[in-house]
Amino acid sequence: MSQSEQPCQDLASFARLPAWDRTPSDLEGLGYERDPRHLFGRLQRVATWDASGPVLSRLGRALVARSLRLDLPTIVEERPSADGATRLVLALEDGARIEAVHMPRAVVRPRVTVCLSSQVGCAMGCTFCATAKMGLVRNLASHEIVGQLLAVLHRYGPLSAQKLNLVFMGMGEPLHNVEALIRALEILCDPAGLAVPPTRITVSTAGHVPGLERLARSRWVPELAVSVNGATDQVRRSLMPIGKRWPLAELRAALDRWPRRPHQKITLEYVLLAGVNDDDESADRLADWTGDLRHVLNVIPFNEWGDVPSPYREPASERVEAFVARLRSHGCLVKVRRSRGRDARAACGTLVVR
Ligand code: SF4
Repeated sequence: MSQSEQPCQDLASFARLPAWDRTPSDLEGLGYERDPRHLFGRLQRVATWDASGPVLSRLGRALVARSLRLDLPTIVEERPSADGATRLVLALEDGARIEAVHMPRAVVRPRVTVCLSSQVGCAMGCTFCATAKMGLVRNLASHEIVGQLLAVLHRYGPLSAQKLNLVFMGMGEPLHNVEALIRALEILCDPAGLAVPPTRITVSTAGHVPGLERLARSRWVPELAVSVNGATDQVRRSLMPIGKRWPLAELRAALDRWPRRPHQKITLEYVLLAGVNDDDESADRLADWTGDLRHVLNVIPFNEWGDVPSPYREPASERVEAFVARLRSHGCLVKVRRSRGRDARAACGTLVVR
């Protein structure tokens, strides 16, 4: 191709739409003449791909050549951990980088959990979180959220959603980018595509109340995890600036309005920081705040970030046990969650790309 032809080609490729967040009706609107769900399935189901990507019919290839871009985020770094989790760094089209974590679990039924990012960096500024140090660089578009997952599944599997759990606990506050998240959920849950059940998708929020309300009105309502981390507004605000905007009482009221399925529990996350929020009084207040909310409380002893300086320390294991025992004495259902991938910096609150 001569150099004079290059600008036209660039313009043409710019005009093509990313394929990964096109619904079947979008594909129909782009002029696909056969059943658009079939092409959608070919694009979304990695089980049907070959090594270089989706395997398409002649008509599918023609539509892609005319209207769609198939470029996926590129995995540029893979850091395996001794516990089987792998931290992945993915480069986006504009060079921005995000992180995802692939976590297989072999016990009883083999399953894989993939932890996904929703933003490049994060604006929430939680003081215990390494990602917060980046600030918010930008939101991910819905095709980047879906493309991130497809890139991970294509490389590491599983190839079907039957063995897959998704958690939005990577970089970013998903509800601060709620429209792109909802669009991505529409694609991921569509029965003609990957068909991930919404009950196997968990969205984790720092307590973004308008985002919660918007997500609650969407078609595919996922499971919910909420970072609490402080049992009083004063402690919570010192750890999570979002607590100034939406205090604990307001957050609690929003959780009461969350549309739960029968027997569904809301997951409450509590990062335990030595000398900050790990005393018995905090446990009493936390139990009081949860009240009659159907929940499971994940207590997560803080991960020291290693090479990233942090003002916080991991609590001693006796303190963790005492804190948990105190919560249980109030009737709370508590699990202690040791984050996986600690040696690969893939654990909660440690995702940061330099
Ligand atoms: S904990 Fe979550 S919401 Fe808070 S700064 Fe980190 S990524 Fe953002």
